[in-house]
Amino acid sequence: MRYCFLVIWVWLQVWISRYKGCALCLRCSDRKIRKHAELEIQYQYGVAEIDLIALPGIDGILARSDLPAITLIQNSATMLADKHSVKVIVMLAHLGCLGNPTDEEGHIACLHLSGKAIQACESYAPTVLWLVDADGKLIREISRETTVTIEHVQLPT
Ligand SMILES: [Zn+2]
Repeated sequence: MRYCFLVIWVWLQVWISRYKGCALCLRCSDRKIRKHAELEIQYQYGVAEIDLIALPGIDGILARSDLPAITLIQNSATMLADKHSVKVIVMLAHLGCLGNPTDEEGHIACLHLSGKAIQACESYAPTVLWLVDADGKLIREISRETTVTIEHVQLPT
């Protein structure tokens, strides 16, 4: 009986230790994607907490290098990533976005350019690019794919 409790206690400690640390998510402000996206990030990267930078259609904003808001977003991301020991930065775009109304290919193009803008922050945390559906459920992890060359991508207007 004592051995059984010990096994349960050890298993519990291992399970709890898996969910430590913090992720940083850059996503659209749309409340409909929050729940599923945050659960998926917690599950995929084993983090307990998620810092958030949210603006409507943020992937479209970061994809345009001429906007002054980009510097503010980059400085915020650098500060949060370094001060909170962020394990991973998740750059997230969603289908059906009112802030960046484009199709799947348009979001993928924006994600590639957004990823470059975030990597320019020179944070030690790796950046991943996620495309989720209108409910926040993960469709594709773009950063695992190498089929798009951003030099030839047409940004949505
Ligand atoms: Zn949106």
